[in-house]
Amino acid sequence: MKLEINTNNDHETMLVAEKFAQTINPPLVISLVGDLGAGKTTFTKGFAKGFGIEENITSPTFAILNEYNSKRGELFHFDLYRLHDLEEAYAMGFEEYFDLTKLRGVVLVEWAENAKGILPMRHVEVKIDKLNENQRKITLDAKGEVAKK
Ligand code: ADP
Ligand code: MG
Repeated sequence: MKLEINTNNDHETMLVAEKFAQTINPPLVISLVGDLGAGKTTFTKGFAKGFGIEENITSPTFAILNEYNSKRGELFHFDLYRLHDLEEAYAMGFEEYFDLTKLRGVVLVEWAENAKGILPMRHVEVKIDKLNENQRKITLDAKGEVAKK
């Protein structure tokens, strides 16, 4: 399954993410792919709202991981921008968050490409392409039979 949606501003991107969050069932890992400033954190803000989190989401660029709670489960927001490789991710104990047999919620990860191999086979890739200053192409792609449990 691949779904393409164009948005014209950050609010629309948040709305798409909010609607998407309302349709998913945990456990789920979501990989956010796109350049700096594409809208990965913006997407996460909308997703968190749709997942029932009332807190304001901030970028975990320095913290690497921010955790939130909602009635529907936990939300783990990673930003692996400052990570060098998978070994570093393992050293920080991150692999357990990506284990679908243990996860009781949703993981959203920015820059998963910095820890190649950390993603479970079954995950959703959200790719955000910057078309111009305010327009984005968002591609939702279910990898590894996400629909099946
Ligand atoms: P990333 O996490 O990918 O580095 P951010 O979400 O932090 O990106 O930043 C995206 C920036 O682009 C924000 O300043 C946001 O307001 C702006 N923006 C403009 N148009 C859009 C859009 N259509 N969707 C998402 N963000 C947009
Ligand atoms: Mg970001």
